[in-house]
Amino acid sequence: STTGLAGRAVVVTGAGSGIGRAAALRFAAEGAKVLLADLNGEAAEAAAREITEAGGTAVTVAGDLSDQAVVDEVVATAVERFGSLDVLVNNAGIMDRMSAAGDTEDAEWERVVRVNLTAPFLLTRAALPHLLATGKGAVVFTASEASLRGSAAGAAYTAAKHGVAGLTKSVAVMYREKGLRANAIAPGGTATNIQVDADREAHGPAVLGSYMRNVGSPAQAEEQAAAIVFLASDAASNINGVILPVDGGWAAV
Ligand code: NAD
Repeated sequence: STTGLAGRAVVVTGAGSGIGRAAALRFAAEGAKVLLADLNGEAAEAAAREITEAGGTAVTVAGDLSDQAVVDEVVATAVERFGSLDVLVNNAGIMDRMSAAGDTEDAEWERVVRVNLTAPFLLTRAALPHLLATGKGAVVFTASEASLRGSAAGAAYTAAKHGVAGLTKSVAVMYREKGLRANAIAPGGTATNIQVDADREAHGPAVLGSYMRNVGSPAQAEEQAAAIVFLASDAASNINGVILPVDGGWAAV
């Protein structure tokens, strides 16, 4: 293998479902040791079992990653069980209600920003000393088509995911001299369990419909996972600060 991931310690958030689950399985297939973190502990356990039954190494942490105590537990568990933390995949996220700014309630804004932007910041900050200690750490964020344009989601999700792109670039620049790389994938529509929070009909302005025809047919989670693993791997050793669309060409429209 040319990925250099064998034996490396990888944390994947949102690893119980969809893109995160596919990424965790793919890292394990490359020989990495994987910590699967998810709000849904049973789903994380099921994915971890699939890894260990195939002869791989996996542990889980269940909890809400917007909670600092859970973030600290993820980092401590990875370091205790694996002896290091080489790769962090900040993937967990939730949809908003496709609300325009004027229709966005405080609770929707605060939850979506907290889970999609603040939680990745908290985990990155907590993991940084360990990622830097390896001399070649990598962080991969799951951004979104909504990191690139205003027509892919509501105001809260779009603002949070633009923030994720900014965080990716800041980490990439601030730590590049120390051998750490930070990149993001920007998925277009992908078949997972993610759902628009509540009633899109009631909250989503009809204007988005015409833009969203450009989404095309949904990708498979494995296609997103392949890009995540690539960006974390030695094959991407000179790629830093990139927001990589994985969208079948939507970003080119
Ligand atoms: P998914 O719902 O299938 O998986 C997301 C996982 O994250 C779930 O297992 C969920 O339990 C977990 N999670 C949610 N909130 C959490 C929290 N606070 N703490 C811990 N775990 C939490 O969805 P997915 O599509 O695989 O989403 C993964 C990422 O991809 C998200 O960041 C999402 O915004 C992004 N994304 C998805 C699409 C798409 O079309 N599916 C497009 C662009 C971006």
